[in-house]
This record gives sequence, C-alpha cells and structure tokens, in this order.
Amino acid sequence: MTRKKIVAGNWKMNLDYAEGISLFSEIVNIVRDEKKGDQLAVICAPFIHLNSLAKLGGDTVKIGAQNCHQNESGAYTGETSAKMIKSVGCEYVIIGHSERRQYFAESDELLAQKTVIALQNGLTPLFCIGETLDERNNGTYFEVLKSQLTNGVFGLNAEDFAKIVIAYEPVWAIGTGLTATAEQAQEVHAFIRKEIAAKYDASVADATSILYGGSCNPKNAAELFAQADIDGGLIGGASLKSRDFADIVKTFNA
Ligand code: PEP
Repeated sequence: MTRKKIVAGNWKMNLDYAEGISLFSEIVNIVRDEKKGDQLAVICAPFIHLNSLAKLGGDTVKIGAQNCHQNESGAYTGETSAKMIKSVGCEYVIIGHSERRQYFAESDELLAQKTVIALQNGLTPLFCIGETLDERNNGTYFEVLKSQLTNGVFGLNAEDFAKIVIAYEPVWAIGTGLTATAEQAQEVHAFIRKEIAAKYDASVADATSILYGGSCNPKNAAELFAQADIDGGLIGGASLKSRDFADIVKTFNA
C-alpha cells in the first residue's frame, strides 16, 4: 500500500494579502521547478488569501483553510463554512490544531462535527492531535492521543475515515524549536496506526497518511520523514520561507 506523502504548510495568522500572494508565487515556482516525485505540497492560508491562491497554485501547490464552522450555513456572524471554502477551490482544511483547541476551547466533540461537515463538502480534513508537555512528562500521552482519536474521528465510518489525514503535533514542539526526535515521533505514529487498525482494519490503517508537525525544518525533515510511519509534515514557521518550505517538500524527491 502506498499512502500519500504530504507536506502541508500552516501560515497561521501571518501575511497580509500582498505578502501572501508574493510568498505563494515563490513557493509555486520553486516547487514546480524542483519537486520530483508524487508528494503533495499544500499551503493552508488565512481565509482572505484562499480564493486567489487556489487560482495560482494549479496542480503544483494545493490549498487548504485552517478552520471551518461546524454548521452548513446560518446566523454565525464572522464564521466561514466548509461549503464556502470548497467553493473557492480549496481541497484541504486543518481541523483541531492545538491553537484552536487551546485558545478557542475547541473540544473533540466540536471537532468531530467540523470533520463531518468538511467531508460532506468534499474537503480533506487534516485532523490534528497532540499531547502537552505535562502529558508527555507524566506518561499519559498515549491515553490523551487515543481519546482525541476516539472522540474526534473514530465516529466516522471506514469509508469516510479513509478520506482524512491525521497530523500528530506534540504541543510542546509547536513553534518552540523543540522537535520530537525521530524515535519519539515514530513511536507515536506507529501507535496511531495501530489504533486505526484496531478501530477499522489493517488496510485502512496502512492507507492513512499520518503527518508529523512541530518545529519541522529543512534540517530535520529527512530523518523524520524516513521513519516507517511518518508520511510527511505539517509545517508552521518554516512554511513562511519559500526556500525552507520547498526544501522540506523536496525531502521526498525520488
Ligand atoms: C503548526 O503550527 O502546525 C506547526 C507545526 O508549527 P511549527 O512548525 O512552527 O512548530
């Protein structure tokens, strides 16, 4: 089974419109010239950029949003629906990033609803899970991750689960410069795949792309992505530099 290799950038709340177009154009040009292989490059940008980027990216760099609302439409001032995101040409949406869980109190149950609405609208959820430093240090991280999976995405049937991507992002490694070692990341990715096999079956588990996120950069990407159960990365800070992001994408060059 060959699962998709994916390098997805998460720009978070950075870059005004002109800056976003400029950085994205650079990324598309470098990736078009230098990527060799079938790995997918994705940029998850703020909402205001999505319409333009989707038109500039073509097949070279796919576009994702960083969040969506859990309802189809309605009186939810300030929110953006999965249908709207899809309508501008986006293919992906990040759901459950730890910053959404932490600063916007997004629960597993809410994230489960967002996942369903994203799938119903033809978007691929990049569903994030990850433990805090305390949870890593007190040894409860496997329980925490299992509960995030169980309550967030294991309510999906196998057919729908097969359409999502999981991102393991240890909270202590996001934006801190502290990367999980390749062994720490592989241990968790293998655990996640085992849990997916137990819930669904081995073929679903084998086909699921599981990305690593947390201070991934061009220097550490090769060792991380060489691990058996790591299928790419969700990249924050390094996706704001075209050369760095493209070099991470090139880690998978054949
Ligand atoms: C992220 O925000 O998803 C992330 C992984 O950030 P960074 O790469 O900056 O740690």
